[in-house]
Amino acid sequence: MKKHPLSSIDAEYDVILVGGGIVGSGLFRDLCLQGVKVLLIDKKDFSSQTSSASSKMLHGGLRYLENFDFGLVKEALEEKNLWLKIAPHLSRSESFYLPVYKDSLRPLWMVKLGLFLYDFLSHFENQAHRVLGFEKTLKEIPWLKRDKLIGAGVYHDGVVNDHRLGLDLIFDGLDKSGSSEAVNYVSLEDFIFKNNDVECLLKDEIHGLQKFVKAKHLVFATGPFTDKLLLQMKAISWQPCLLPSKGVHLRLKPDKLPLKSALVMTPNDQRVIFVIPHHDHILVGTTETEADENFFDPKVTQKDIDYLLQNINEYFPNINMDQSDVLSSFAGIRPLVKDPNSTSRGKTSREHHVYRPHEKVTAIVGGKYTTFRSMVQETARRLSQNLGLTYNAGLSKIPLSPSSFYELIESQNFTPELIEYLLTKEKCRTLEDLLQRRLYLYTEAHWHSENLQQFKVKYQKLLNDFLE
Ligand SMILES: Cc1cc2nc3c(=O)[nH]c(=O)nc-3n(C[C@H](O)[C@H](O)[C@H](O)COP(=O)(O)OP(=O)(O)OC[C@H]3O[C@@H](n4cnc5c(N)ncnc54)[C@H](O)[C@@H]3O)c2cc1C
Repeated sequence: MKKHPLSSIDAEYDVILVGGGIVGSGLFRDLCLQGVKVLLIDKKDFSSQTSSASSKMLHGGLRYLENFDFGLVKEALEEKNLWLKIAPHLSRSESFYLPVYKDSLRPLWMVKLGLFLYDFLSHFENQAHRVLGFEKTLKEIPWLKRDKLIGAGVYHDGVVNDHRLGLDLIFDGLDKSGSSEAVNYVSLEDFIFKNNDVECLLKDEIHGLQKFVKAKHLVFATGPFTDKLLLQMKAISWQPCLLPSKGVHLRLKPDKLPLKSALVMTPNDQRVIFVIPHHDHILVGTTETEADENFFDPKVTQKDIDYLLQNINEYFPNINMDQSDVLSSFAGIRPLVKDPNSTSRGKTSREHHVYRPHEKVTAIVGGKYTTFRSMVQETARRLSQNLGLTYNAGLSKIPLSPSSFYELIESQNFTPELIEYLLTKEKCRTLEDLLQRRLYLYTEAHWHSENLQQFKVKYQKLLNDFLE
């Protein structure tokens, strides 16, 4: 039955954690495993913002080698290879082909050197790279543009189900903790310091209900929303630190381009665009432009779509992808931290930062999806120790097991038991939470409206009972 999440939470926690993207979800699980009593809140559904709008890669970031960010690349490669091992049901290793043309910015010898360094920095845990000549490249990707082609480098990165990993971290944390809680569609309205505690005013975004909850420490894992949110909080003074940048992806019909492996396009504007096959579509992205005013659910413009289609058609001149091949599109805002050495969004470092605007307040921003676990360790360690607990760094490496309904979702075999499980156990509050993030039905282009009507009729009672 419908519940008002705020009415079922306690009045006091060790930590209130604001933001349930990948950073907040990872921190929530780690703190739960350490025995900390945490309340996680998110203004929207968990994993519904940046952490479901990524390119879905677990990667070291080959291009950051050019910025000499060796430490970051090495750390990200270690994290990529860790998640491939501890969450194999949500991630896979994928071959990425990087074609080289006579007029490419990087010649084949440089690509070869970069790929060696990339594998070296992974301690050779990456599946080994290959370098292909003209004939072999076309044999393996026959649709590719031949004109001026020299060859290709092939390396291996990970592909992850980004929003599902975030959700699984939260549900695993809840499973392992008797006292923590996670509530979605609940925002932080304001906070004050009172008697050695932080008193937070929380608001249910759906019902408007408000509640005061106390904690010993307040943590912000609010990604690109951090500056805007913290500037509204009168209890602290906050210096804006972000250089937000919008990135757009398209999901394309796979019919014209039945790729078996991923491809890296390097257009002359110095961007990098990935083309990644998924089970029923090809993901193409991303762009990098200034973010619009509204960071929640940012918009995809026709210019963004045209740019990505134009690049696909340049690399695959005979397939003629057009608007009718676009199944859906989405945009996200990168939470880049301003870099004194660069004003270019593409060149800005992907390092993370932990800020302490007050001894009881922490904000963790920046980084990449791939490095979220190592990002949160620093904060989890400090919070555990402040609470008198010994921090165990190994706990966040405990493997994640698939839920018992995982196979049904993967095979899109929806049963009444599955729907009931998701509605009762997985904190869906709106139909969109259920369709997009629990059942992976991303848009009506995937989910024909006739089927959606049948679905709504079939499960009418359950949907009415549990959704707002
Ligand atoms: C286009 C694009 C492609 C990317 N591709 C990759 C990639 O392939 N690999 C990779 O490693 N990284 C990638 N990244 C980077 C990665 O996605 C981000 O670094 C990461 O998802 C950020 O996670 P987060 O938890 O910090 O932010 P978010 O996921 O945005 O989470 C912040 C949460 O805070 C909540 N919130 C905001 N305000 C409030 C409030 N007042 N009260 C309560 N909650 C609030 C929001 O609802 C949101 O859920 C990409 C980013 C973009 C934009």
